[in-house]
Amino acid sequence: MKHLILGNGPAGVVAAETLRKAAPRDEIVMVGSEDEPSYSRMAIPYLLEGNIDESGTWLRKTPDHFDRLGVRQLRGRAVAVDTQQGKVLFADGHFETYDRLLVATGSHPVRPPIPGVDLPEVQTCWTLADARAIASHAKPGARVLQLGAGFIGCIIMEALAKRGVSLTVVEMGDRMVPRMMTPKAGGMIKRWVEEKGIRVVTSAGVERIERGDAPLLVSLSTGDKLPCDLVIVAAGVAPNVAFLDATPVHVAKGVLVDARMETSVPGIFAAGDVAEAPDLFTGAHLVSAIQPNAADQARVAAINMAGGNGRMPGVLAINVLDTLGLISTSFGQWWGDPEGQGVEQVDEAAFRYLSLQFKGDVLIGATSIGMTQHVGALRGLIQGRLRLGAWKDHLLEAPQRFFEAYLAATQPDATARRHPVAAFA
Ligand SMILES: Cc1cc2nc3c(=O)[nH]c(=O)nc-3n(C[C@H](O)[C@H](O)[C@H](O)COP(=O)(O)OP(=O)(O)OC[C@H]3O[C@@H](n4cnc5c(N)ncnc54)[C@H](O)[C@@H]3O)c2cc1C
Repeated sequence: MKHLILGNGPAGVVAAETLRKAAPRDEIVMVGSEDEPSYSRMAIPYLLEGNIDESGTWLRKTPDHFDRLGVRQLRGRAVAVDTQQGKVLFADGHFETYDRLLVATGSHPVRPPIPGVDLPEVQTCWTLADARAIASHAKPGARVLQLGAGFIGCIIMEALAKRGVSLTVVEMGDRMVPRMMTPKAGGMIKRWVEEKGIRVVTSAGVERIERGDAPLLVSLSTGDKLPCDLVIVAAGVAPNVAFLDATPVHVAKGVLVDARMETSVPGIFAAGDVAEAPDLFTGAHLVSAIQPNAADQARVAAINMAGGNGRMPGVLAINVLDTLGLISTSFGQWWGDPEGQGVEQVDEAAFRYLSLQFKGDVLIGATSIGMTQHVGALRGLIQGRLRLGAWKDHLLEAPQRFFEAYLAATQPDATARRHPVAAFA
């Protein structure tokens, strides 16, 4: 049996290692399209901060790790798949056959169609090559404009601040991280960032980037014109699926998979940022673009590729952000449900915030700011779809008691569950 893995990021690597364990005699080929060893994109901010060197981003530190596992590594960009004959065509013209195929090609950053977006001082922050380019421009005192204040934008902000640049962030939404945080939470993160000396312009877009003396001149929809040394585009990503265009593999935004991580074509699997798997609550397909999810999905895909029987529980959206030291989280259906109930608790001065969203007596989503203790309990309550019973009403009154509610829900004989009022006393 020959297993072909497209992609050598976290999903590809975990799949190769799992396959080797599960199928000691099978042939395994892992293909990466970048001229780098397998590395972790989430280490890039630490590289930019100077906390690690490039080898610190490598997913496996021993140079012969994959050779010793008997995993053949190839460089190449898949451009087409023949699902009838079981072969993949690469950009350099060579073919590779497969019995089982794993699509673990991740995603790529999107450059919005803005005049000047392809100038050399306009960079995305996605690959090691991007990180090298950013490091060469983002010197102390450099004027940097970051387009987008989403997940990646917030993560790299700290690294940029530590490099001593003068940073302006421009975000189309009315708050920071609008696709992951409630309006209140996104507004609090904005205020925190501004207090750290970063200029944040929300509800605004970049209209044009042109050569100027700076060397760039960036025009905003607000009418502002900002001289810049570097523009970083962090305006969203799109899954790498183009090579599947002429195949019967069902693709929406990403590659659609079932709970076994198998696509609509038997024998072809997908995992990681490229995969859209069923959501825990709604069953609707969802890309969960975080590294732990990539590893979990890859493990399940590989078990099934080797003939085993692995299943993923539904995907739970998990967002954990450290924005210049302010920790924020959102889980599940954090925006709530029209038929559900919710509660918000805000302490603006202390930068603390909690929002809980319920459907029936089940917690379906939560958002927090400034909480480092016990937030795992929020995830546990949501992921376990734990029935809260009388605790639901008590949490609507006092949401900060969620950890007690979690203990009560996970310890069936706990008196707190049976007597929540007493527990509040
Ligand atoms: C700056 C930054 C910070 C991040 N921080 C965090 C964080 O703090 N926490 C977190 O959980 N996640 C973080 N992430 C997200 C995390 O890196 C991704 O979720 C993770 O990399 C997904 O792994 P993957 O293997 O699915 O995809 P990738 O890591 O993107 O790997 C995909 C691989 O496929 C290859 N490939 C692409 N197209 C083709 C093709 N056509 N043919 C062959 N090979 C191809 C690529 O070369 C690449 O090696 C961060 C991402 C970035 C960019």
